[in-house]
Amino acid sequence: MITGASSGVGLFAAKALVDRGWHVVMACRDTDKARRAQAALGMADGAVTHLKVDLADLDSVRALVDAFHATGRPLDALVCNAAVYLPRLKHPERSPQGYEISMATNHFGHFLLIHLLLEDLKRSSHPSRRLVILGTVTANSKELGGKIPIPAPADLGDLSGFAAGFKAPIAMASGKSFKPGKAYKDSKLCNMITTQELHRRLHDSTGIVFTSLYPGCVADTPLFRHTPRAFQTIFPWFQKNITGGYVSQALAGERVAQVTADPDFAVSGVHWSWGNRQTKGGKQFSQELSEKASNPVTAQRMWDYSMQLVGLA
Ligand code: NDP
Repeated sequence: MITGASSGVGLFAAKALVDRGWHVVMACRDTDKARRAQAALGMADGAVTHLKVDLADLDSVRALVDAFHATGRPLDALVCNAAVYLPRLKHPERSPQGYEISMATNHFGHFLLIHLLLEDLKRSSHPSRRLVILGTVTANSKELGGKIPIPAPADLGDLSGFAAGFKAPIAMASGKSFKPGKAYKDSKLCNMITTQELHRRLHDSTGIVFTSLYPGCVADTPLFRHTPRAFQTIFPWFQKNITGGYVSQALAGERVAQVTADPDFAVSGVHWSWGNRQTKGGKQFSQELSEKASNPVTAQRMWDYSMQLVGLA
């Protein structure tokens, strides 16, 4: 199952997995769009199942799990890919449960989905069951891209925003003032913390391989549709010609498929990267994560608050 497979990295990951012979559940908020995207990339109808989900809505996540169970299919791998990036919001948008929308979509929706599907992953007879979460360089302060203070580096602070229930007027995990670009980075930091904590808690007892990855800078996906027009032109050019960080959607999707399916990536607890400057034939490596992403005490607190906020505790 891949969330957010109607465009960008998730769509091309679906294609790369179908090409490897997998059946892919495309879990998308707009299933008509997903069907059109599937057809445009030439994926056969029999190779995919379309299920609807709005990850920002915890009730919709629960409905997705029911719909998946109704298919009777086993779950061999789950790829948590869907995300929104809304850097120009003046005021926080709210999910149906009242949470800030980037955190609700990118973290809480996936956090609940993972918990509701863990038993399915445990039950699967696949020899290498995997749970893969898309991370990013801008939420990892071990890397240059994670240190950029525009609008601020990812930082969950003391998690007092989560502790206080994360509803209006609270919009940031730290409880501090709303910065939409940082809300995205914070949610991706939560994604990477979740992977690390899943690995610590569950890898030994379940054998499931828990990994995250940075696929490279896929600067021309619809993720950037809410940035200024000039940025949408300059950013891909800059990444292609100046930083060398640009990765095509097809290559990013292939990388997600590798992490999901290929034997070389069956190492739990790893955050995979191909670096920030792409080289032809460049190899994957285990990218060190920041203290903020790897500290087990922070992880345990984030986990406990997230369990409460998604209604599991
Ligand atoms: P896209 O915008 O192309 O894809 C995002 C997907 O998420 C779309 O299918 C979108 O659906 C879906 N989605 C958004 N909101 C919801 C929701 N509420 N419920 C269900 N699905 C939703 O972006 P990318 O392909 O670039 O991003 C994919 C992942 O890769 C993200 O996790 C991102 O953080 C990560 N990433 C991207 C990088 C990049 O440079 N692009 C770099 C590093 C990581 P819809 O089609 O309906 O909008």
